[in-house]
Amino acid sequence: MSTGFIRKLTIVGGGTAGWMTAAALSKLFGTQLHIRLIESEEIGTVGVGEATIPQIRLFNATLGLDENEFIRETQGSFKLGIEFNGWLREGQAYMHAFGAIGGRDLGLVPFYHYWIKQHRAGRAGPLGDYVFNSVAAYQNRFLRSASIPNSPLSNVQHAFHFDAGLYARYLRRHAEANGVQRTEGKVVDVGLDPESGYIRHVQLDSGEQVEGELFIDCSGFRGLLIEQTLKTGYHDWRQYLPCDRAMAVPCASVAPLTPYTRATARTAGWQWRIPLQHRIGNGLVYCSEFISDDEAAALLLANLDGKALAEPRPLRFVTGMRKQFWNRNCIAIGLASGFMEPLESTSIHFIQSSIGKLVAFFPQHGFSQTEIDEYNRQVQFEFIRSRDFLVLHYLANQREEPFWQRCRTMQIPETLQQKIELFRCSGRVFKEHEELFTEPSWVQVMIGQGIIPERHHPMVETLGEEETRRMVDGVGALLQRAAQVMPEHAEYIAKTCASA
Ligand code: FAD
Repeated sequence: MSTGFIRKLTIVGGGTAGWMTAAALSKLFGTQLHIRLIESEEIGTVGVGEATIPQIRLFNATLGLDENEFIRETQGSFKLGIEFNGWLREGQAYMHAFGAIGGRDLGLVPFYHYWIKQHRAGRAGPLGDYVFNSVAAYQNRFLRSASIPNSPLSNVQHAFHFDAGLYARYLRRHAEANGVQRTEGKVVDVGLDPESGYIRHVQLDSGEQVEGELFIDCSGFRGLLIEQTLKTGYHDWRQYLPCDRAMAVPCASVAPLTPYTRATARTAGWQWRIPLQHRIGNGLVYCSEFISDDEAAALLLANLDGKALAEPRPLRFVTGMRKQFWNRNCIAIGLASGFMEPLESTSIHFIQSSIGKLVAFFPQHGFSQTEIDEYNRQVQFEFIRSRDFLVLHYLANQREEPFWQRCRTMQIPETLQQKIELFRCSGRVFKEHEELFTEPSWVQVMIGQGIIPERHHPMVETLGEEETRRMVDGVGALLQRAAQVMPEHAEYIAKTCASA
């Protein structure tokens, strides 16, 4: 354990991870820390990552960003959820929407238990008809949550789609204003303390040696410090999530500006569609064992809504996570820490969550292995449970292609197996500890993937048949009416966010 007072922080990498870290730590610690960020324009950034989950709003608020300005600066749009198209079978779709199922809280028994009863009796529409964000998303409407008592309009949970390059540039302005020193240059060597194995400095191509007490590795997939230097090791999860490549291409915008991400199942993977103001981000995530790069590029280009604005760009990845996120005096954040395909838009959230934990565990008086172990345990838990949620989407499918058949029969983590079995037999699902995804998320995806519980909660029976029918139908009708009050998504942005 070191007892030195930590003031000098060196961040390697200026992608989304590097600038989010620099912006947050400089805001929160002020002049207590001297933060230096090194990035290389020649190497560049991964250049994708445009869809988020609602927690990002907390991050932006912590930085004091004005949400309308943020939308303007990043060409952003609002996001109410993710539509999964063809994941159960071709032609079927469902939405994993943010927020509650059923509008107002009904008390002890979640609304979806009443829905299960009605659905099994053939008396209810798809679950999405009873989720406010889903109803609004399919009408292409958006309005920020308003405090109207007892109205679904008071419970709109939103996230964003944005241009990640513009976001990094926007955060850079804030970070530099808070004293972060940026250095353009390539790290070509890393100096270690011969006794402790701690990182002492990074050497730049200019010849300069940049020292630090704490190093944050935000160098992307290469993991320059955490892996190439410290040889931390990696848990490879391709047995659970076999996709290993992506092809990304932007295309011209088309109306309407939809307030949701779309993930469409394809022969050997899936395609994302992320609508921004100035373009649509698209990409195909696929398994190279089942489809070639050329076939993937052709498939992607054949399924764009607008004219392609560039050549498809190939990316390779190994799904998994580092064996330690924090090793000695180095913490990996962003792609350097691990990667899961963007099926549930989790990567930027993991950056945010790692920053939050770094703040909670900040080693101002030196390094304690007990604290390092606890940090690693908490980040690992979040990664593993989020991985299970992604695996669920692949597992329960009824598609014919060999890739999808393989996904149906693959070994799955025991914790996921237990969650599915519990839900299937009783309709019960619980968020454990620090799991990222809450009950409404699990319920929507399980039901969307055709896992319909055999039973509902017994307390549902305290309402008579007619009363249950009236209640469930009433919620559906209320959500439809409330959504119609909202403006069209593009119109809302034009009126509310377009100018200062
Ligand atoms: P990078 O963007 O790769 O940045 C690395 C930085 O390190 C760069 O500045 C580079 O110049 C610098 N660097 C590297 N080596 C050196 C060196 N030797 N010297 C100096 N500097 C160096 N996330 C989401 O939340 N939502 C999504 O929808 C989403 N979609 C994705 C789709 C795909 C196909 C992929 C691959 C990722 C997606 N992500 C998504 C993840 C998201 O892109 C990343 O989490 C995010 O961009 C953070 O990247 P990063 O900053 O860690 O790495």
